[in-house]
Amino acid sequence: MRYADLAAAYERLEATSKRLEMRALLAELIRPLRPPDLPRVLYLSQGLLRPEYEGVELGVADSLARRAVAQAAGVEPAEVARRTKLSGDLGSTTQELLAARRPLEATTPLTVERVYTELSRVAALKGEGSQEQKVQAITDLLVPASPQEGKYLVRFVLGTLRVGVREMTILDALATAFADGTKEARVRIEAAFNLSSDLGLVASALVDGGVAALGAISLEVGRPVRPMLAEREPSLAEVLERMGGSAALEYKYDGLRVQAHVPKDGPVRLFSRRLEEISAQFPELVAELPKAVRAKPAIVEGECVPIDPDTDEIQPFQAVSRRRGRKHDLERAQTEIPVCLFLFDVLLAGGTPTYGDDFPARRARLTEAVRATDRVRLANQRVVASVEEATTFLEEAVAGGAEGVMAKSLGAGSSYRAGARGYWWIKYKRDYTVGLTDSIDGVVVGGFHGRGRRAGRFGAFLVAVYDPGKDRFESFCKVGSGFDDAALAEMPHRLAPFEAPERPVSVVSGIEPDRWFRPGLVLEVRGAELTLSPIHRAAEGSVRAGAGLALRFPRFTGRYRDDKDPTDATTSDELLEMYRGQVRQAAPDADGDDGRPDPT
Ligand code: ATP
Repeated sequence: MRYADLAAAYERLEATSKRLEMRALLAELIRPLRPPDLPRVLYLSQGLLRPEYEGVELGVADSLARRAVAQAAGVEPAEVARRTKLSGDLGSTTQELLAARRPLEATTPLTVERVYTELSRVAALKGEGSQEQKVQAITDLLVPASPQEGKYLVRFVLGTLRVGVREMTILDALATAFADGTKEARVRIEAAFNLSSDLGLVASALVDGGVAALGAISLEVGRPVRPMLAEREPSLAEVLERMGGSAALEYKYDGLRVQAHVPKDGPVRLFSRRLEEISAQFPELVAELPKAVRAKPAIVEGECVPIDPDTDEIQPFQAVSRRRGRKHDLERAQTEIPVCLFLFDVLLAGGTPTYGDDFPARRARLTEAVRATDRVRLANQRVVASVEEATTFLEEAVAGGAEGVMAKSLGAGSSYRAGARGYWWIKYKRDYTVGLTDSIDGVVVGGFHGRGRRAGRFGAFLVAVYDPGKDRFESFCKVGSGFDDAALAEMPHRLAPFEAPERPVSVVSGIEPDRWFRPGLVLEVRGAELTLSPIHRAAEGSVRAGAGLALRFPRFTGRYRDDKDPTDATTSDELLEMYRGQVRQAAPDADGDDGRPDPT
């Protein structure tokens, strides 16, 4: 495939924000493709070279990209920098500069194959002299590029491809292009993706053998599975009712979710909730898991929490979050903040997949497969059949340092549902009993200039939840509380990669912040309660026409959710559920007034 055709398709995709239209355009783009071009186009269109979990990065800084553009366009780097400052986007500047350069002698048109192979080579270049080689390789791609190709090449290199094709839209397009477009086909395609986390692999299997061939995609040690997620209920009585009267309750540890891949031989690999490899941060787990897990190869899941080495008590999560990303001093961190992995599930044991088994069978297999050690233990669990038993267990869990309980269905059909959120697992946190329920993981989409002590920096942020149906981010609060000086100083750096010249098409809000940001940074907020609001757009119209949901007295908890993609943030539907949970707890009067203040 010619790269020019891909660039032209990007232009069309960029011009629409409608998911249906996007799906049709994407289906049209990929329909004629076969491997190896098909997976390459899918990765490239997501701004990737390999499935995300492999963590392959180009490693090209803005300054290097500017040098490559300058060389290819025959201008000084200072000129590129000057124009980029005006346009705000090196991609558009490249387009401009390539259009203005003298016509080239005939060159061979760029192909997807060449672009992909060259960029993969650039990603692999390491060590001394590699920066120069990277600049040269990118220059060589830009020289024969048309202005439009140049724009998208450069945006890819910088990681700012704004085409906006998300995984779910690609899955839709695969179903339209290579299957009969039915709901069943879509479900099977998504199931294969949830198990493999690799769209290229799924697409290749699909074109080769149709939907039937997807059944052959199974678990593989080293390839993360998309995590099963939990629903909420506002009371333990409702939790039990949902689960048919009895359930397995487990401690809900407040730490970092870890999926551990333990091969028969060779190193253990650990993946985070968003499938990033985090093995390097927890060398003690990597060392201990092969001893603790007897049925190898295995894939097990658990929550990693800090433990006080003297008292064996669970410590606040912040200790782990400080350690995430800490490159140096890992040895000291291991003794100062040792962690323990509390295992709660098993997807593969002794080489046999267990994810299709019901939960009681999986827990039995997990118990059998693991010999607990100091660092690797089983999540505390008790099967309960009454609200009294459940309450007692919740109190024990909270006293033991957990943030609540996780209820797990014991029923038929309680298999591990990769990538799905459902009532097979229900989370219930201690703070559901008073005031506003849970914390909310929001996406920062805007910033407001600070005043007074905060003059000259951001003073507050516009935060949104995600609506997967509409594939957009809807604001629900403006939050300034909870940021100490260090956090405020850090925010501009955290937000810099997401700066946007105008409101991104995927963001909706009735407020105009001083600066817009593309959805990227996820952080945790709490508040007093959810109310209706004419200016926020979360779940707009679900409770009353024209009103969205807003969080009163929002406060940043200090916890960044780097383990979440923006699309993993709290959803509008979840927010609505939380609002309704509150309303039920507030025992409405006969006239239906829920006792809540009037909308603000
Ligand atoms: P999400 O539901 O989107 O994962 P979140 O990351 O904010 O939201 P929580 O509300 O904290 O998650 O609840 C789910 C998480 O709880 C799991 O992803 C897991 O990391 C953690 N967890 C702790 N203990 C358990 C347990 N015993 N079983 C399952 N998950 C547990």
